[in-house]
Amino acid sequence: MRALTVVPEKGGTLSLTDVAEPAAEEGAVLVDVVAVGVCGTDAEIVAGEYGEAPPGEDRLVLGHESLGRVREAPADGDLSAGDLVVAIVRHPDPVPCENCAAGQWDMCRNGRYTEHGIKGIHGFMRERYRAAPDRLVRVEPDLGLAGVLLEPASIVAKAWAEIDRFTERTVHRPRTALVTGAGPVGLLGALLAVQRGLEVHVLDRATEGPKPDLVRELGGVYHDRLPEAGELAPDVVLECTGAPEVVLAAMATTTVDGITCLTGVSSPGRPRRVDLGGLNRELVLQNDIVFGTVNANRGHYTAAADALRRADRAWLDRLLTRRVPLAEFAPAFERGPADVKVVLEVAPPP
Ligand SMILES: [Zn+2]
Ligand SMILES: [Zn+2]
Repeated sequence: MRALTVVPEKGGTLSLTDVAEPAAEEGAVLVDVVAVGVCGTDAEIVAGEYGEAPPGEDRLVLGHESLGRVREAPADGDLSAGDLVVAIVRHPDPVPCENCAAGQWDMCRNGRYTEHGIKGIHGFMRERYRAAPDRLVRVEPDLGLAGVLLEPASIVAKAWAEIDRFTERTVHRPRTALVTGAGPVGLLGALLAVQRGLEVHVLDRATEGPKPDLVRELGGVYHDRLPEAGELAPDVVLECTGAPEVVLAAMATTTVDGITCLTGVSSPGRPRRVDLGGLNRELVLQNDIVFGTVNANRGHYTAAADALRRADRAWLDRLLTRRVPLAEFAPAFERGPADVKVVLEVAPPP
């Protein structure tokens, strides 16, 4: 069958290659891939920055944001042929560490976890895959192609689950959230904020394209530059850019008892002058929390599936700004100014 593969850590190797059918030992459920979302992680793997093929293999099948349709499932399980499913990206480490052993593989302590399409196991930019039933999450059939947003939504479902826990420390309930970055993660993070009843502000440098309207349709306020000091003092900041200037500004902009959640991965190696004493003083004297989050466990996928089910389907569809057939894959890896989520179509959409 056809698959989009790379030689990890070697740029310029992305190509459509023939790969073996999925082996029976990969799991009892056979899934036909419908579509796979493309994200910054894929672009970095294509550029040769990281990625790891399965042991003993040269090439890695790319893609982790999957949507598939069950072709075969065990008769005694919860899944049946025709169900739309998303595969959980990370597998627990083989030891396993105490967190992985308890299903918290997103909090793995030894780094020996594997991730589909990223680290040590093949991804989903291929026609079919097999998985164990407990590695799959069913999505509402009505979601259709928007089900491909479940994996990025799981990232913000985890972020909000953590934020929710931190907000429990005060009687004051958060009212205002600022989301920095209006890419798929930022917009889905804003959706979850609205679903929590928060007044939502979204910051992005785009002045054209679909982002400003997508934010307004959600009932949020769109900012194309950082609000001036005193103009906005959010209870919560969800940082989704990883841009160092934005990260610093985000931490400083919260109100007292503020919570800043960092989800964007920055590139290291470009030092900046920062008044660390001033920042520390502000964090301490305001009881601020700043924390990072990555990946998601099954509970977060389930929460994300619930959030997508409650969202406006037309709004979710508008996040899918471009669809590229597998056979003509190259433009899927070029980002345009009007792109939010580009989707690689492997089979006709549901
Ligand atoms: Zn991704
Ligand atoms: Zn672990």
